[in-house]
Amino acid sequence: MLWPHARIRRPRNVEIQERVAAVRRDHPESEAWLSLLEAALGESETGVTWSAAVPTPASERPIKAPVLSHSEITVDARAARSWVRRLLKLTPAVNPRRIDGLALLEAAVCHDDARIDALALEGGVEPQALRVLGQMAALPLLQACARGLATELPATWWEGYCPVCGAWPVVAEYTGLERKRQLRCGRCGTGWAIPLLRCVFCDETAHDNLGYLTPEAGEQTRKIEVCHTCKGYVKGVTTVRALAAWAILLDDLTTVPLDVAALERGYRRPERPGYLIESRIVEQPPMRGWRKLVEVGGGWWRLLRRGLHHPPAPPPSSTDLRRGEA
Ligand SMILES: [Zn+2]
Ligand SMILES: [Zn+2]
Repeated sequence: MLWPHARIRRPRNVEIQERVAAVRRDHPESEAWLSLLEAALGESETGVTWSAAVPTPASERPIKAPVLSHSEITVDARAARSWVRRLLKLTPAVNPRRIDGLALLEAAVCHDDARIDALALEGGVEPQALRVLGQMAALPLLQACARGLATELPATWWEGYCPVCGAWPVVAEYTGLERKRQLRCGRCGTGWAIPLLRCVFCDETAHDNLGYLTPEAGEQTRKIEVCHTCKGYVKGVTTVRALAAWAILLDDLTTVPLDVAALERGYRRPERPGYLIESRIVEQPPMRGWRKLVEVGGGWWRLLRRGLHHPPAPPPSSTDLRRGEA
């Protein structure tokens, strides 16, 4: 396949490559979206930039606040801006020079659509397009945070929103023989268990107010869980094993007909995220001078530093030279 943007990394994981190829073949209508997701999955694999940015959780956060709530995420600004610029270039209608990459990243991590819309207005971009681009831009960072902060998650999490990033789940998985219900976040990939009969969005538990829509033919593993109280819906899937984090949005993309069916029947997904995390993205200070030598110079910097503390013998004086000649 032609890959016109040489600076975009494609995923190296063979399983991802095969799955992306299958989606590309079976759902040609999703190409624009798929190429962004493919780029984000490729960038997720590059590791260092994003795993180094995983923050320490804010110590005094409310009990129901996700782990990233009010965190300060320090990123390598050059690498982060470069990534956002490469991603934006995939969409011809967007001029990457007119969008502040770090501001977009921060607004997307915080799921702050109003801020993304303001950036879109400044940059002359269609707001919906920039919302999608923002979420794809934030994916590598959020997935790194989910991996890096997995041990910080509370032992039990009863909320409908993601315990890491505050988003609503994109799918409810029923895995294994016991069909345990697990919600999955499409942004950071986190999964969390929640009781079977409870609305994700409004905590409704009364049987009469909760129901299912099922596809008319074929697909036995899919359903749409609906709540008559808040009119919310979430897609459900029965699987042998939990989806990999990278597979969640690919799965979401291939089940759009279920979303259409839910919307046609008057159900919808909330516009606002489950919890506004209000994280900040700050730039890692650039390394200069000695600090840079110390951090990147490997072994030889030590020789230089030792040289500073123990100056080498002064160059021979003219007297010495003369002596040498004698
Ligand atoms: Zn999440
Ligand atoms: Zn509800």
